[in-house]
Amino acid sequence: MAGKPLAERIRAEVAEEVRSLGHVGLTTVLVGEDPASEIYIGLKQKAAAEAGIEATDVRLPVTVGEDELLAEVARLNAADDVDGLLVQLPLPDHVDEERILAAIEPAKDVDGLHPFNAGELYLGRPRLVPATPIGIMALLNEYRVELDGADAVVIGRSDIVGKPIAHLLLQANATVTICHTHTRDLARATLEADVLVVAAGRPAFVSPDMVKTGAAVVDVGINRTDAGVVGDVDPGVADVAAYFTPVPGGVGPMTIACLLQNAVRCAYIRRRT
Ligand code: NAD
Repeated sequence: MAGKPLAERIRAEVAEEVRSLGHVGLTTVLVGEDPASEIYIGLKQKAAAEAGIEATDVRLPVTVGEDELLAEVARLNAADDVDGLLVQLPLPDHVDEERILAAIEPAKDVDGLHPFNAGELYLGRPRLVPATPIGIMALLNEYRVELDGADAVVIGRSDIVGKPIAHLLLQANATVTICHTHTRDLARATLEADVLVVAAGRPAFVSPDMVKTGAAVVDVGINRTDAGVVGDVDPGVADVAAYFTPVPGGVGPMTIACLLQNAVRCAYIRRRT
């Protein structure tokens, strides 16, 4: 399940919508100089600009105080030309991440991490949902993977991937199992999975003997190792699975494309309210 062709199509559609809307603004806020975060912000900024989105890159020093960051979020919440607003995670230890995320105006919450948007998803009324799970659902749909009645297993329970993808799969009528670090027998669960989504952040830890023949396997992991960037799933799984997303080139490009889609969604939500 290559992500690039579909991601390119979505990005072209986003560019079209931006043209018809006239203006869509996306502001990213980066605190400090974490190298991985710098790469992600660079990719998001470049993709947004290519789609005709007015992308603004706010950088703050690692020493920024929580109140100063809250004041910056308040300023961007009030700025009329900002449709989508995201604060890149992780934040430095001295800043309360939950407090910052809760301060973002829900209609501008392009990452879908505000408690209001997370609650809407939980209630089955997805409004702004994190980009990675939206991208995974789009990929499964593109490759016509049957979800209704399927056994779906998600490894990972983070707010940005594991929990939201589990909810979207549930809303697509899959029978969903969520596994995490306290799961006693991971392989017992994964071997039952028709659809397996892996978002654990552990290089190549899902091996071919943990996967049911003919399953659809989505590898969300991005792990920087001496051998380069690898996923959470051993590439040998491709011999067992019917569908398998490569790393890189699978979920990663979909995340960027769906973030741009969310920025457009923010623009529509703001025009309606
Ligand atoms: P996280 O660290 O917040 O969560 C990891 C989850 O995996 C936890 O819930 C934990 O319980 C579970 N887990 C960890 N080790 C496990 C094990 N051995 N057995 C069972 N469960 C285990 O991570 P995250 O933010 O959800 O990201 C997960 C991975 O996905 C990372 O590699 C991250 O870089 C990547 N990621 C990729 C994209 C993308 O666009 N491709 C987007 C977001 C995250």
